[in-house]
Amino acid sequence: MADTRYIFVTGGVTSSLGKGIISASLAKLLQARGYNVTIQKLDPYLNVDPGTLNPYEHGECFVTDDGAETDLDLGHYERFLNNPTSQANNVTTGRIYQSIIDKERRGDFLGKTVQVIPHITDEIKRRIMLLGKKGKYDVVITEIGGTVGDIESLPYIEAVRQLKWELGRRSMVIHLTLVPYLAASQELKTKPTQHSVKMLLEAGVQPDVLVLRSEHSLTDDVRRKVALFCNVDLDAVIESIDVKTIYQVPIKMKDEGLDKIALHKLNLEPRKEPELKAWRSFLERLENPTKEVKIALVGKYVELPDAYKSISESFIHAGAVNKVKVKLCWVHSEGLEAANLAEKFEGCSGVLVAPGFGHRGIDGKLMAVKYARENNIPFLGICLGMQCAVIEFARNVLDFKGAHSTEMDRKTQYPVIALMEDQKNILDMGGTMRLGAYPCDIKKGSIAEKAYRKSHTMKRHRHRYEFNNKFLEDFEKAGMIATGKNEDTDLVEIVEIPDHEWFVGVQFHPEYKSTVVNPHPIFVEFVRAAVKHAE
Ligand code: GLN
Repeated sequence: MADTRYIFVTGGVTSSLGKGIISASLAKLLQARGYNVTIQKLDPYLNVDPGTLNPYEHGECFVTDDGAETDLDLGHYERFLNNPTSQANNVTTGRIYQSIIDKERRGDFLGKTVQVIPHITDEIKRRIMLLGKKGKYDVVITEIGGTVGDIESLPYIEAVRQLKWELGRRSMVIHLTLVPYLAASQELKTKPTQHSVKMLLEAGVQPDVLVLRSEHSLTDDVRRKVALFCNVDLDAVIESIDVKTIYQVPIKMKDEGLDKIALHKLNLEPRKEPELKAWRSFLERLENPTKEVKIALVGKYVELPDAYKSISESFIHAGAVNKVKVKLCWVHSEGLEAANLAEKFEGCSGVLVAPGFGHRGIDGKLMAVKYARENNIPFLGICLGMQCAVIEFARNVLDFKGAHSTEMDRKTQYPVIALMEDQKNILDMGGTMRLGAYPCDIKKGSIAEKAYRKSHTMKRHRHRYEFNNKFLEDFEKAGMIATGKNEDTDLVEIVEIPDHEWFVGVQFHPEYKSTVVNPHPIFVEFVRAAVKHAE
């Protein structure tokens, strides 16, 4: 669209203030007024994408339909907007530099000196404008990762300055800061916000709207002071108070008028009041559960819940559908031993074994599968979790001694999970897995068919290893069957044990596809099975 509007969201004072949630909430409100909106995240680190990052660094790596490994904020964007994102929605400094250096090597710069300004900033601007050029969006929201004042953020802030100059009223800047509360003097302090805005001004950027994160309500005095010192309109000082769930934030932002002020600044019609019926009904179910159910989440990063963000959010969506509060019990796979299984899983009506890479914690994951299988507790294995279900079944039901995935044991006699042919010669670690959406055919009469209510679906993947079809017949004879397959490659995508109360392993990641208005059916059915088990 020639007149696409651009909103830039920057952050000051501290990191982790929730720029992603504010961006997603504003996008939701604009969408609910009938605008087509997308959100983009620019990350100032040098990794080309977060695919090679340890989850301890930045939490979960989110995967898009087109196979991009991205920042977890894209998960929030999809969950709020119910629209898929793509490679273009997440750009890192590493990717920007990579494309500039590739061009330089090709000689595209015709002998010129290649510099941060204009070459890097031009590439940043190109990536921002790219989404608008698709012609689909009325508004593109670009969230700038990091905090204003960081050395690595400078080229991004400079790109925003230039774009604001070039786009005029087709662009605006929202700056998110923290207003700390000093308990001793019982006061909200605005100085950090003033300093942070000053830093933006030094870079030539005047914010249009300030969103102030705070634990306490902002007084009129505080609002007036911030407006005066930071040159923003009084109604453009927006309070973002701590709430119980991130899903309340769009409602709070609506009450504060964030969408109205954004439309006004961008010279866009308000059109209509935001249509939030489905959203509100989700919130109503979420906030008024009739039961509670405990589900164990077994993984090796449980001390950092962000590592499993999409999974825990999927349980929130699936819980709301069922009007059930899902209480997740985070079980560290490294702390599991035969002697403490009963204690660790006490009161749990479902066991989920999480995705992962590498050997650490595998024995615990295998024990968790065995416990769920033998005690008839509803079980969901995702990716590595599904692979563990296969390995456990091979070892303890088929009696394949030492069966394993070749990821953990290259020389196992029973490589029930093994590398695909086309993965064998790959040396680069970045972006080389089976990534993104692949089709899956579902077997009639399976749990998966009951959940999906169809025989064909597209699912998002992120892995190198696969079920080894050489052993499929053995598994099926012994009671673990393949209920989902890729029709082109015959790769096994879903396994189930029909004799068990509810036992499903999926090679793909259903958690990447669960949204507020479209909770993922596998999670919905899993929660239902857990409730039934508890009863
Ligand atoms: N490590 C396994 C593989 O690469 C599983 C990956 C995952 O759980 N995402 O196949």
